[in-house]
Amino acid sequence: MDEFAYKNGEMHVENVPLSSIVKDIGSPVYIYSTREMVNAYKSFSEAFNEHNAKICFAVKSNSNLAVINTFSKLGAGADVVSAGELERALTAGISAKNIVYSGVGKTNKEINAGLKAGIYQFNVESLVELRALSDIAVSRNVNAEVGIRINPDVDAETHQKISTGRKQDKFGINIDQASEAFAMASSLPGINPISIAVHIGSQLTDVAPFNDAFTHVANLTRKLRSEGIPISRLDLGGGLGVSYVGEKTPTPIDYASVVNSTLGDLSCELIFEPGRYLTAKAGILLTRIIYIKDNGLKRFVIIDAAMNDLLRPALYNAPHTIQQVTEPEESSELKNYDIVGPVCETGDTFLTDQPFSNLKSDELLAIRDTGAYGAVMSSTYNSRPLVPEVLVNHEDYALIRPRETLKEQLKRDRLAPWQ
Ligand SMILES: *Cc1c(COP(=O)(O)O)cnc(C)c1O
Repeated sequence: MDEFAYKNGEMHVENVPLSSIVKDIGSPVYIYSTREMVNAYKSFSEAFNEHNAKICFAVKSNSNLAVINTFSKLGAGADVVSAGELERALTAGISAKNIVYSGVGKTNKEINAGLKAGIYQFNVESLVELRALSDIAVSRNVNAEVGIRINPDVDAETHQKISTGRKQDKFGINIDQASEAFAMASSLPGINPISIAVHIGSQLTDVAPFNDAFTHVANLTRKLRSEGIPISRLDLGGGLGVSYVGEKTPTPIDYASVVNSTLGDLSCELIFEPGRYLTAKAGILLTRIIYIKDNGLKRFVIIDAAMNDLLRPALYNAPHTIQQVTEPEESSELKNYDIVGPVCETGDTFLTDQPFSNLKSDELLAIRDTGAYGAVMSSTYNSRPLVPEVLVNHEDYALIRPRETLKEQLKRDRLAPWQ
């Protein structure tokens, strides 16, 4: 069920009318539905009920402590890609033994932090990283459980900036060099190479690339086992897509059936790292119309949210559905509008030539499906304060990150001593 629905002519999040949150917190503001996150988590985890599966929420999609805690309470682990995310996952209540550390460039400091915490698995992406991890593990007198991320040379057919499994992408070790990498890892002290990791990209709207990648993983598992490497875990990454503007997307059940048919007979523990699937649909960016400007050719709707608050349209040309908070009359006549932010960049555009019933200054709009890769990518470009975040649960809502004040923002700068 959609947790962002019209009731009595006004959009609500669960049982909270949006206007009451804005009255309190102002705009723009990110608002998340707990129930939507819980439902997404359950539909994902239930698809893998019959597998020995560990679900590690990809913290990079939404790293607010209250969001991580929501998944932690449901039994999720975490997939982290930096020492900062590791710290967040631990602080939000996820135990180290449910944390997987991915990423192409871990510093020595970050490797040390992961070993010190005692995380479940490091996903290593190069031979140099294997050596660094081995050295540090030996110096700490511990053994690290390691997955080697392979690059299966599969095109995920998603936006090129979020495709990660092709040979020309910077991620993983080429699959044809995997045997050598595992052999080398086995010979290094302080390292237990027991897992193959793969993550071919994000926002996949078709299961065929997963099928290709997992078939490669299955073949490699058999090959490595025959070479004496005891592979017992497979980390299949994230990437399951969601519908932003009516795209047809695979369900967790569709995805699970691909996992089953390719990897079901290997008796491995499976690790999943969903991010977007768990958080995207649970969030909106609530914004207010500042002005409507008609230049004769176009009607521009200038809103108080901008590319610094939500980067996806500018970075990936990603469209997000936008809805009026006050329910439009069904009979009302539609006009085309461009929805743009106030930042001094032409890329600060959310939608072009979209039909709406008559829009007015001061009206509230909801930019949908912004729970993933929204607030986490926000910045202070144009010296705009970092956008606040609110979590809704049934009738309740709470501020889970206050709006940054200009005073706080300016306090981070200082003059040089000679000024
Ligand atoms: C980004 C990322 C994820 C999460 O991807 P989603 O598309 O949000 O599910 C999982 N694993 C790795 C290694 C990633 O880089």
